[in-house]
Amino acid sequence: MSERPGGGANGIGMTSARTRERLVQRLTEQGIRDPRVLDRIRNVPRHLFVDEALGSRAYEDTALPIGHGQTISQPYVVARMTEAATLGGTPAKVLEIGTGCGYQTAVLAPLVGRLYSVERIAGLLTRAKERLRELGIRNVRFKHGDGNLGWPSQSPFDAILLAAAPHAVPQQLLAQLVEGGRLIAPIGPEGRQELLRLTRRGDQFVRERLGFVSFVPLLGGVA
Ligand code: SAH
Repeated sequence: MSERPGGGANGIGMTSARTRERLVQRLTEQGIRDPRVLDRIRNVPRHLFVDEALGSRAYEDTALPIGHGQTISQPYVVARMTEAATLGGTPAKVLEIGTGCGYQTAVLAPLVGRLYSVERIAGLLTRAKERLRELGIRNVRFKHGDGNLGWPSQSPFDAILLAAAPHAVPQQLLAQLVEGGRLIAPIGPEGRQELLRLTRRGDQFVRERLGFVSFVPLLGGVA
């Protein structure tokens, strides 16, 4: 069986079980443990979330352009954030800020009760909705809006994930967490961000550092 990248738009090279298994293997070596998360990485067809011309690189552990100056998140980071948000359980309500192409959404959705996903760029959101529908994922509610505001009418959430980086922890989002709920977010200026988990304990938030990462910035308003 050919494993060459670029073996045609839907060529076996990019979609074969072995190509995906290599990615799963790599993430395992980097410390991803939750078998349900690894299963999602194995089963979500990442090549359908990027431009056909980039399909041959879809199972590399790297971010790739998705248009509008944005990127599909790196599989390792998606897996890490999903693990950090679900903690081996099935949180009932989760908010995702930055739908993008919908890849993280597709990985996460079956591991939660209901997923709420906010994106500020209408063009990306429309495509993401279509892909998720084609994949048969139905427990997601989408919103075109500014994720800085969260989704107050649906709050509180068991977990909130940010797929774009603010300079400082957004207090408005922390206020939308349940007791024991957690915010998983890359924080800091471009090139110097750290992935943090903040867990609500009463009025306090326990802060854990999950490693250095590289995300596009969290912007304001809608486009
Ligand atoms: N997990 C996504 C990541 C996309 S990149 C994927 O795998 O495709 C981050 C996304 O966050 C971009 O689509 C960007 O438009 C969006 N974003 C940035 N600031 C935002 C904001 N304030 N509200 C909602 N979405 C935002």
